[in-house]
Amino acid sequence: MRYISTRGQAPVRDFAGVLLAGLAEDGGLYIPETWPRWSPADLRGLRGLPYCELAARVLAPFVGACIPFATLQAMCRDAYAGFGHPAVVPLVQLDANLWAQELFHGPTLAFKDVAMQLLGRMFAYVLQQQNQHVTIVGATSGDTGSAAIEACRDRPGIDVVILHPEGRTSEVQRRQMTTVHARNVANIAVAGTFDDCQDLVKAMFADVPFRRDLHLSAVNSINWARIAAQIPYYIAAALALGAPEREVAFSVPTGNFGNVLAAWAARRMGVPIARLVVASNRNDILARFLESNDMSIQGVEPSLSPSMDIQVSSNFERLLFELLDRDPAATAATMQGFRATGRMDVPRAAWTRARTLFHGFRLDDAGTEAEIRRLHGLGYLADPHTAIGIAAARALPCPHLPMVVAATAHPAKFPDAIERATGLRPALPPRLADLFDRTEIYTRAPNSLDAVEAQVRAFSLRNAA
Ligand SMILES: *Cc1c(COP(=O)(O)O)cnc(C)c1O
Repeated sequence: MRYISTRGQAPVRDFAGVLLAGLAEDGGLYIPETWPRWSPADLRGLRGLPYCELAARVLAPFVGACIPFATLQAMCRDAYAGFGHPAVVPLVQLDANLWAQELFHGPTLAFKDVAMQLLGRMFAYVLQQQNQHVTIVGATSGDTGSAAIEACRDRPGIDVVILHPEGRTSEVQRRQMTTVHARNVANIAVAGTFDDCQDLVKAMFADVPFRRDLHLSAVNSINWARIAAQIPYYIAAALALGAPEREVAFSVPTGNFGNVLAAWAARRMGVPIARLVVASNRNDILARFLESNDMSIQGVEPSLSPSMDIQVSSNFERLLFELLDRDPAATAATMQGFRATGRMDVPRAAWTRARTLFHGFRLDDAGTEAEIRRLHGLGYLADPHTAIGIAAARALPCPHLPMVVAATAHPAKFPDAIERATGLRPALPPRLADLFDRTEIYTRAPNSLDAVEAQVRAFSLRNAA
């Protein structure tokens, strides 16, 4: 399988190439040159497989010759063996035609583990094949950093450095990063905001000698491998609820548009998906786009669902490329216009096409709290992100079809919001029960590129020694 950039000016790469590159050199995102197709008979052949086996088979065409199938199978088994539920991504029935697919049984209790646990193993394999070493640097407001650390800890060929804004993540989120005592993991608490951390990471990548010396790499949500690794659970849910004979619908709490894009990809490959509900909090750029073709940037407002507090959904560019009939010049022009004006000019025909499948939904904090309370009354504890997805599914059902909500975080990850809504403080699962007793290890840095680069360099030199 070969991958092309949505902007058409970057080298065509194989899976290993896009895994290591992340963003394409022309600023675009990598996407398969052609989509694999699954016939109804092919899909039936996946029914009843253990999740790790299904994942390996779905990923095989994307991975191509870069990882032998037996190795890919072993990676999938190993990646999902550590999940806290035997079904890995279990479906829980909430109502007659409503299910939650719990994607949060991984080590850091958010759906990002499903892709990241596999990515860490893929990185290590590809780096070993190419006899390379990388330093992964990333900024996090919470979930991404811990998922990356858990995925990369103790893996040869990889150092990982995560910047977080000091005092601005939840205590559970910070401890999930700072209590990992692995030689190849470093946490830096930056005196600044999440945006400052992200700017520091961008500045490190823009510092060409630094980037080259340390072999900087990233595992952020624009990495194609992360999208690919999210496709199997949509297929698993659809098969469990009657596909390919029956259509299904999904509701996805959305931030960077990565998770819902994976659902779109499953549909593109032949899974009968009738509707995709894109659920947002008050940061509703996607809901405004789907409602009235208004994709315009507004300031980010903090909410109870911080992983959806975004200004620009970076993975939307991949859908845009498809909506524009895979025209890279038109995609590049649209994205450049968006950057220049803060408003994306999507042709009416493309917007209309998007609306036949995607439906937008928004819910403010008061509504989110009310939904958590309502669900608790019915016996289900949902985190704020999942609660928004469930509210969206109820508001925009697909008559007579099963609707599956992506349950993206464990309620114990957001105990304050849950306690305020229900009076109940959710307990961490047993394997994390001692999180608050573990020793934290991290360094502090001022909001200064020189200071942060000096720390990253020192860490990398120590590990190379
Ligand atoms: C990252 C995240 C999201 C948003 O996912 P995208 O792929 O960025 O749309 C939603 N909920 C939780 C809990 C997350 O961690």
